[in-house]
Amino acid sequence: RFRNFYEVIEENTKRFPKKPIIFEEKLKIRWKELKHYVDSFARYLELVGVRKGDNVALLMSNSKEFVIAFLAIGKLGAVPVPLNTFLKRAELEYILNDCEAKLVITQGKFAELLEGIGGSTRVEKLIWAENPPRLDEKNLSFEEGLTIEDYEHITPQAELEDLAVMLYTSGTTGKPKGVMLTYRNIFSNIENIVKVFDIKPKDRFIVYLPMFHAFTLIATVLLPLYTASPIVIVKSIMPFSNVIKQTLLKRVTVFMGVPEVFNALSKAKLPWYFMWFNRIRYFVSGGAPLPLGTLERMRKKFKRAVLLEGYGLSECSPVVSVNLPHKQKPLSVGPPLPDYEVKIVDDELVELPVGQVGEIIVKGDCVMRGYYKNPYETENTIVNGWLRTGDLGYVDEEGFIYIVDRKKDLIICKGMNIYPREVEEVLMLHPKVELCAVVGKKDAHHGEIPVAFIKPAEGESITETELRNFLKEKLANYKIPRQFIFVEELPKNATGKVLKRVIKEKLNKGEF
Ligand code: ATP
Repeated sequence: RFRNFYEVIEENTKRFPKKPIIFEEKLKIRWKELKHYVDSFARYLELVGVRKGDNVALLMSNSKEFVIAFLAIGKLGAVPVPLNTFLKRAELEYILNDCEAKLVITQGKFAELLEGIGGSTRVEKLIWAENPPRLDEKNLSFEEGLTIEDYEHITPQAELEDLAVMLYTSGTTGKPKGVMLTYRNIFSNIENIVKVFDIKPKDRFIVYLPMFHAFTLIATVLLPLYTASPIVIVKSIMPFSNVIKQTLLKRVTVFMGVPEVFNALSKAKLPWYFMWFNRIRYFVSGGAPLPLGTLERMRKKFKRAVLLEGYGLSECSPVVSVNLPHKQKPLSVGPPLPDYEVKIVDDELVELPVGQVGEIIVKGDCVMRGYYKNPYETENTIVNGWLRTGDLGYVDEEGFIYIVDRKKDLIICKGMNIYPREVEEVLMLHPKVELCAVVGKKDAHHGEIPVAFIKPAEGESITETELRNFLKEKLANYKIPRQFIFVEELPKNATGKVLKRVIKEKLNKGEF
C-alpha cells in the first residue's frame, strides 16, 4: 500500500491531523505538526547536501528529534544509520568508517565521544540537537532545521525496494555488520505483527528501550506510526519508576521489552493504582530467552494483560515468530508470522523432522537485502532466499518454535553437545541466582568444557556445591559446568543481552 514512510505520514496526517502521535514528557506532537517538522528538516538536510542513497548516521538517545530526523532522511531517499549510543569511540569509528556517513545527527551529550572523530572518517558535518556545542559551518543546529518553510518542492524519493534503514548488529558474536533493510522488508514485518495483535489507532506504545535497536525501532516506533497509534517516548529505561509512571499517565496499551525488564517488573512492588488503572493489553518479550519463572510471575501479577514471547533478529526486520494472543506455549517463541516460512535444517541445509534440533532458517519478505559491502557474509547468510539465523531450535507438531541456543555458543565437550542456554535456564531457577552465563573454555583433553559465570541475587551468597547439587537433580552429568565463577556483574549490550563473546575471550585468555 505504501512505498515509504513519508506516504504513511501523508495519509495519517490527512486522516488524523489533530490527533497526537508523539508524547514526550509534557510535550505532545500532533500529526500535522509531525509532518511539518519532517518536511522542514528534510529541506534542511537537502540544503546541507544530503541526496538519495546517502547514509546518514544518527547518534541519539530516545527523543522526538530521533523520529523526525529518521523520517526526514527517509523522505529524501537517504538511509538512516542509527548508531548504538553505548559504543566507545573506537567502535563508533569502525561503524562510521564502514557506513561512510558524511553527516552525523546527534545530541550535545555526545560531543566528547565524537570529538576529533571527523579526522579518521568521512564525516564532514554534524547536526546537534539538545545542548549543542559551539556552532560553525561544520557544526549545525538541529533546532534551526525545524523552522524552514520552503519545502513544497520536495517529493518523497524512496521506492519500496530502496533501503529504509541500515542497522549494525550489536556484535555479540563478532564484528558489527550493517544489516540493509528495505521498505518492503519493514512494511512486511509491520503488517504481519499488526495482523497478529490487531493493533488499532487507539492503542498506545511506550518506547523506553534504545531506538537504535531493530526491535524497538521497528516494532515500537515505526509500527505505531503506521497504525497511527501514539508513541510515548521515554529517554531512558532508568529511572524505571518513570517508565511505570508514563505507562500509567499516558494510558499505554502495548508494552514491549526484553526479558530483563519483565524479570524486574515481575518482582517490583508496584503501586496499587498502577495495578488497578493501567491499560496494558499486551506485554511482548523478545531479544533473549524469557525465563519460565518470569513468565509465571508476570501471569500471576497481571491478570488482564498477556505476556507473549517472540523471536527475531535484525536480519529479519526483525520479528520472525511470536506467540498468539489466543494460543501461547511457555518456553516457545510461537509460530512464524503468517507470511513467513521457517524450517529447521542440518549443516547441509536438509530439513529435519519435527522435534529435532537444527539451525533455524527463514524465508519471506522480512529477509534483509544483505550486509553492507559484505557480499561474502551475505552469501553465507542468505542461501536460495533462506536466511540462516545462526540460531539452533526445533518446532513442534503445531509449528511452534523453540529456541535452543545460538550455533556459535554451542559447547562440544568430549564430542557431546552442550547447549549453554539449557544449563542457564536451570541455573536461573535457583532463587539465589540473579543472572548467569555458561560458556565454553578451550581444553586440551575435552575440546571445550562448560564454565558457569554466576551473579548472585542481591545480598545472597551461594556455594559451588549448592549449585552443583541443584543442577544434578535436573541435568545429565556431562552438562554440568566444570567450573563456577562468581562475579558482581556480567558484560551486557544495550538491550541487556549478556556479551558472551567478551566473557569467552577473557576466559580463554586466562583472565579469570
Ligand atoms: P549479533 O547478531 O551481532 O550477535 P545481536 O544479538 O544484538 O547481535 P539481534 O538481531 O539484536 O543481534 O538479536 C538477534 C538474536 O537474539 C537472535 O539471533 C537470537 O539468538 C536472539 N533472540 C531473539 N529473540 C529471542 C528469544 N525470544 N529467545 C531466545 N533468543 C532470542
